[in-house]
Amino acid sequence: MSDASGAPTESSSDFAAAPDAFQRLWTPHRAVYVEKGQGAHDDDCPFCAAPGKTDEEALIVARGEHAYVLLNLFPYNPGHLLVCPYRHISTYDQATADEVAEIGVLTQTAMRVLTTVSHAQGFNMGMNQGDVGGAGIAAHLHQHVVPRYAGDSNFFPIIAQTKAVTQLLDDVRTAVSAAWSQSAPPPATP
Ligand SMILES: [Zn+2]
Repeated sequence: MSDASGAPTESSSDFAAAPDAFQRLWTPHRAVYVEKGQGAHDDDCPFCAAPGKTDEEALIVARGEHAYVLLNLFPYNPGHLLVCPYRHISTYDQATADEVAEIGVLTQTAMRVLTTVSHAQGFNMGMNQGDVGGAGIAAHLHQHVVPRYAGDSNFFPIIAQTKAVTQLLDDVRTAVSAAWSQSAPPPATP
């Protein structure tokens, strides 16, 4: 088909389709967000930038082959760690088998180290997927490892911008990083 100027146009009658109960809101301009999330490096992404800094600057406690571990700058509890793949991927299903395996091992080690260093009594762990899933930095996958203690409370976000906590983060990073190299390996397959 064509319009009065001869430019091609499309009509739904040109396509084989059965009508259904859904209405469509076409938003092609949003495709840029989808495409941008497909593994592209994002210069503004803190989890892409961190590995290029020193461990002290980036609060990194361990570096693996496919993933690394750093302190959350805004911890829910002291020792709140994040396990991130180096690759800029947004969801867990985009991770390769190697990335999944190493994220798992690093998460196990994080639990052992936090139990040793700070006597964590329990953990909350998880990955918030996407903005609607509650991810603070939705574009780059990260696994939370939050140590829990009897009677703890989530006061840290309130005071996270004080100088005292900045110093504490540095102290925590030093302690966790030192304990990491002495941590036991994962259990062998029975
Ligand atoms: Zn990234």
